[in-house]
Amino acid sequence: MRHVVVIGAGAAGMTAAIRAGEAGARVTLLNAHPKVGLKILMSGGTRCNVTHAKVDERDFFGGSRNVIARILRSFTATQAMAWFTDDLGVPLKLEETGKYFPESDDAQTVLDALLAAAQRVGVVLRSGARVIQIEREVEGAWQVGVQRMSDSASFGAAVHAFGGTQWELPERAPDEWIAADAIVLATGGLSFPRTGSDGTGYALATSVGHSIVAPVPALTPLGAADTLCEAAQGVTLDVELSFWRDAKREATASGSFLIAHFGYSGPAALDLSRHWNRAVADGATSGLRVTASFAPGKTRESLQESWLAAAARGPKLSVRGHLGEWLPLRLASELAWEAEIDPVRPLAQVAKVRRDALLTILTERDMHVNATLGYEKAEVTAGGVPLEEVDSSTLESRRAKGLWLCGEVLDVEGRLGGFNFQWAWSSGTVAGRAAGRSVS
Ligand SMILES: Cc1cc2nc3c(=O)[nH]c(=O)nc-3n(C[C@H](O)[C@H](O)[C@H](O)COP(=O)(O)OP(=O)(O)OC[C@H]3O[C@@H](n4cnc5c(N)ncnc54)[C@H](O)[C@@H]3O)c2cc1C
Repeated sequence: MRHVVVIGAGAAGMTAAIRAGEAGARVTLLNAHPKVGLKILMSGGTRCNVTHAKVDERDFFGGSRNVIARILRSFTATQAMAWFTDDLGVPLKLEETGKYFPESDDAQTVLDALLAAAQRVGVVLRSGARVIQIEREVEGAWQVGVQRMSDSASFGAAVHAFGGTQWELPERAPDEWIAADAIVLATGGLSFPRTGSDGTGYALATSVGHSIVAPVPALTPLGAADTLCEAAQGVTLDVELSFWRDAKREATASGSFLIAHFGYSGPAALDLSRHWNRAVADGATSGLRVTASFAPGKTRESLQESWLAAAARGPKLSVRGHLGEWLPLRLASELAWEAEIDPVRPLAQVAKVRRDALLTILTERDMHVNATLGYEKAEVTAGGVPLEEVDSSTLESRRAKGLWLCGEVLDVEGRLGGFNFQWAWSSGTVAGRAAGRSVS
């Protein structure tokens, strides 16, 4: 039986290993970190948001959406749910937000089920095995160079050593070489580098001729120098955020939003961060802005109408009382003060110019964002190996035959809500099956 080596035992690599094993290949799964599945364990607040009720290519960024759609169609969210429930024995539950979690509310259940499935099809898992070189002798005959990692090995440091867009493999000889007929590269991106996803995968990909779309942190909190962060720290509400570049609105993100002492977190802020970081990576040094509408779905005109109607109905109704019908009171007061209105003032007594100022603040307030919190807090990495460099139906490399890529190492990342794991299950299934069949 011929041999597939899968590099990286995250969500994508474990899926690929299972699929290659199911296709009849002998499979070795190598993981740099001595502990496998760390990201699965920390995901979804340790509950693991496995997938989403409605997934399509518009939930993703990076490479061609046609290619993303094709891969998602090959193993859909519905199939992923059935896989977990029926095959892996992990019943899922749907939450109001459309997110699927294991019924156990415990990410360990997901990890255990994947490891058990891998074991059933004979996958040999080796953790603490960091691949630092891959070489193709002739077509279909690879050598995989492995560095053995001790339990106390530090991974975070490697990110700083790599940095930017120059990807270099560590200058040391491998401790051992493993022969392979096919390789699946599933090394993830750069986020949470202490889990072992430290950028070696990019260096391995470039060593066989791939390019890398400059990686930037995504789904990471936004940093801000804003008085609101102190005044309304801890407040959570639904907002619509806009990302502006040189007075052009380039992206929006809606959903829950948390005001924190350092800036902003919550799904809306995390979803917007990729746009900020991409613009900075593209060289933008000024002209970047994030604004918030604290009345998502409502226009300035409709807010004004409801203000006037409320003032007519209750001449004593205060600004705070009116805004407090849909905004947390602490935030309502703070925004009123920003418009130079005493929050206890009756609506009917507010001058038009001040009311107009408040309506602007409510619908398009500058949030004074000046940075993001980077890879240390990023749930995913935007950028990676371009989709043009892989076959769009099998994910085999167009640069090196016999090498397949899946998961976050590719230039694909999803919004918050289970989309990134869905990409791991879909792309891992496609790459693993194709690699397995190629050698069986
Ligand atoms: C805090 C947090 C919470 C998240 N929550 C969710 C969620 O609830 N839902 C969701 O959909 N997504 C979530 N994500 C995103 C999701 O975890 C990732 O998109 C997904 O795990 C990526 O899978 P992957 O297999 O491609 O990469 P990774 O999970 O990064 O796995 C890569 C693996 O490769 C190994 N590796 C790296 N380099 C080498 C090498 N040279 N040799 C050998 N092994 C190597 C690493 O040790 C690692 O185990 C979260 C991420 C974080 C950080």
